[in-house]
Amino acid sequence: MIDYSSFEKNLSAVRARIVRACECSGRPLDSVTLLPVTKNHPLAAVEYAVRSGMCAVGENRVQEAADKRGSCEARVQWELIGHLQSNKAQNAVAIFDRIQSVDSLKLLRRLDRFAEEQGKSLAIMLQCNTGEDPNKHGFKVAEADSVLEVALGLEHLRVDGLMTIAPLSEDLEVARVAFERLRMLRDALSERFDVALPELSMGMTGDLEVAIAAGSTQIRVGTALYGEREY
Ligand SMILES: *Cc1c(COP(=O)(O)O)cnc(C)c1O
Repeated sequence: MIDYSSFEKNLSAVRARIVRACECSGRPLDSVTLLPVTKNHPLAAVEYAVRSGMCAVGENRVQEAADKRGSCEARVQWELIGHLQSNKAQNAVAIFDRIQSVDSLKLLRRLDRFAEEQGKSLAIMLQCNTGEDPNKHGFKVAEADSVLEVALGLEHLRVDGLMTIAPLSEDLEVARVAFERLRMLRDALSERFDVALPELSMGMTGDLEVAIAAGSTQIRVGTALYGEREY
């Protein structure tokens, strides 16, 4: 694990990238938030994020997040960004403040049921596979309409917006297309259902500039902040 001063340097560099990308696309700086991705790093990664003033972290596994949350003294929001098996939905509802990786109707309905049981209103995003990558989870663009209709009818869920992961590619154009599609999908759904869907969670270490240019409201960054993952 890197030390805190290296983390601060990395954070400054990432923030400078965000500033530049916002300037290039004429977007206000406060329209993009940075979600530090602490998966596969020790609890210290979460503590660094909190110490530097950030208020949420992204994790991709229920058990790992539960362990960290259990031993974390700082107050921070926990966001799930990795695929969730529906048999872990109950735990996930208990642990996470927001679940970005909702990718099936079955999961959607289970999350609503467990949110009701736990007396919560759970914030979610719908993960859409706008890059049409066979290796990625997420709804197809063509399904999004009917999925959102179901989601909006579930009383214990609050749909904040859409999330995507670009296909792994050397070519940033591939990511750009996936991000543009997510934004257009959000705009279309928002109009059709007359709901805000304010969040577009897209962009990571390698493609955050194209994501911001395409309208990302939240970039999820691990490697550029913490270095290579440890496990
Ligand atoms: C790991 C992960 C990230 C962070 O990726 P980096 O390339 O390390 O910035 C972002 N989003 C998701 C869904 C991830 O699983």
